[in-house]
Amino acid sequence: MEEQLRQSQKMEAVGQLAGGVAHDFNNILTVIAGYANMLRMDLPPHGNEVRLAEQIALATEKAAELTKGLLAFSRKQPMAPQKLDLGEVVQRVENFLVRVIGEDIQLKTRLLPDSLPVWIDPGQIEQVLINLAANARDAMGNGGTFTIATGLLEADGSLPSFCGPNGRYAVIIVSDNGKGMDAETSKRIFEPFYTTKEVGKGTGLGMAIVYGIVQQHKGYIAVNSKPGEGTSFSIYFPLAEDEVEMYREPAADLEPEQG
Ligand code: ADP
Repeated sequence: MEEQLRQSQKMEAVGQLAGGVAHDFNNILTVIAGYANMLRMDLPPHGNEVRLAEQIALATEKAAELTKGLLAFSRKQPMAPQKLDLGEVVQRVENFLVRVIGEDIQLKTRLLPDSLPVWIDPGQIEQVLINLAANARDAMGNGGTFTIATGLLEADGSLPSFCGPNGRYAVIIVSDNGKGMDAETSKRIFEPFYTTKEVGKGTGLGMAIVYGIVQQHKGYIAVNSKPGEGTSFSIYFPLAEDEVEMYREPAADLEPEQG
């Protein structure tokens, strides 16, 4: 329990730092991209210089992608939540996920037939599933099964420890039978820029983005992995109760930042 608290405080601190840096950095990038584009337009179209200006513009685009990831991790993304059925959101993105994992990997879904109403931003939850699918693909290499299941958890005060005394949660469990990960990786997986992949292959932002989005939805994510066997992630979202529309008023800290 104490370890969990320490971990969440650490993530909070990293999130604030990352969010602050990313926000300022983004402003600087906008200036660089602006000047690079002006140069591009002023230069003779077929010379070497225009190619260099294009390279600057391309590099700033890549950097902007990274800062976008950091902003997502630090929960500074604007959010447009709707009351939706969790299973439906999974179904909407299924075809896309099949393309992410590729032909060698099978996608299996086991969705609870009952509806699981939750307040979510569907675009952001799709992003979560896409990031998880991309990692599962990388972990499985030569084929395997990527499974998405949904369920309902009624926490009665005894389990799991992070749930409120009478909380009801819609749960989504995403698992693969890939190479799994060691304890150190399981512990650090949500830290921004933590990656075990080769330089150029991983940014270490995928799971940080997942973490930020789940937090922004007032949810929880847990990882369970065994080297050589596979990995599963359980994500818990508070069930939307008709009378408790938790996102009816946009919370002040979810407003997009000015400036
Ligand atoms: P990246 O994929 O760019 O490395 P992520 O934040 O998405 O960054 O993941 C961080 C690390 O967590 C990965 O480098 C990998 O070691 C580990 N990881 C994530 N998902 C899985 C998985 N499904 N199976 C095994 N390892 C995983």
